[in-house]
Amino acid sequence: TSIRSVSSLKYDGIKVSLTDNPKVIPPHDKLIFGQVFTDHMLTINWSHDDGWNTPHIVPYDHLSISPAAACFHYAVECFEGMKAYRGVDDKIRLFRPMENMKRLNNSARAASLPEFDGEEFVKCLKELVRIDQKWIPAHSTKCSLYIRPTFIATEPIIGVQKCRNALLYCINCPVGPYFPKGTFNPVKLYADPAFVRAWHGGVGESKMGGNYGPTIRVQTLAESEKNCDQVLWLYGEDRQLTEVGTMNIFMHWINEDGDPEIATPPLNGIILPGVTRDSLLALGKTWGTHKISERKITMDDIKIALAEGRIKEMFGAGTACVVCPISDILYLNESLHIPTMENGPEVAKRFYKELTDIQYGVVEHDWTVVV
Ligand code: PMP
Repeated sequence: TSIRSVSSLKYDGIKVSLTDNPKVIPPHDKLIFGQVFTDHMLTINWSHDDGWNTPHIVPYDHLSISPAAACFHYAVECFEGMKAYRGVDDKIRLFRPMENMKRLNNSARAASLPEFDGEEFVKCLKELVRIDQKWIPAHSTKCSLYIRPTFIATEPIIGVQKCRNALLYCINCPVGPYFPKGTFNPVKLYADPAFVRAWHGGVGESKMGGNYGPTIRVQTLAESEKNCDQVLWLYGEDRQLTEVGTMNIFMHWINEDGDPEIATPPLNGIILPGVTRDSLLALGKTWGTHKISERKITMDDIKIALAEGRIKEMFGAGTACVVCPISDILYLNESLHIPTMENGPEVAKRFYKELTDIQYGVVEHDWTVVV
């Protein structure tokens, strides 16, 4: 019998090589999401035989990976999206980072990639954020640092098989305001049952690249031919609402029983378990003003409630925007107007304020982790 000893992912011993050529940091109001990256990145190699290598923080640069690697051929990869915020007290905070670690480990399992110790990875991320902290400007709720952990299969072999080499890395980019005019900008949705984002028995609840690439042509169709901003992803014969673009969907309405309700579809395997979604559900429960539900919502529910004047607000929820109001849904050539903006949007605004107050340290909360 052979005893294999493999190491687990550990922050202790992390190696840091700082750049000799720091970049010029662009003014935050000129930033286009995802185009400029900070000076450094984090890389951690894994191999089946040795386990996790020492984490390295190195100058941001290209990777060198075999063209045979399974990440390129079979999308054996997964990723995360989280943020660091500079608070009113100048401290930098992460928001519920262990939720992202849990989700990344779930995605890794779905991709047949190895799991890792999330606590240790967060320590490495904090070090990376500290090193590039000048990239997060003085406190402003208009700015944050987007953190993109990425996990790819790198073994230099073609084959649909469990990989023996992988790279967990992280790149960060400063982001400016999601709503540059300072007020919510509502979006118009394209809902076409011909397109399906995820299905039962699939991997829709994982954050794998393979779930995103195929959505681009539908998003392009929505924008260029349907005069819409985002796709509303429907599922099943009864046209259940699942997600909007890369956000979870929320509805504030008077339900069938006449009660004020804030509802979002349940985590039934075809929905990405958003950290924002979970946080809004928790915040809403503290109010005591609305029934808070994870329930099926169909297009028929929407049409009937609209006709009866029971829909108050619909909005997307995600890390990028916190909440994004919905003004219209184009469904089977019919444009349905959603009176979100006419109604405040009262609930969307309240969620936005309560969540950003926590993220930017206006309100102390155990959801935040100081870097
Ligand atoms: N749904 C999808 C498909 C997404 O890609 C995202 C972004 N991660 C979300 C919902 C929102 O998740 P979160 O609140 O964690 O950003």
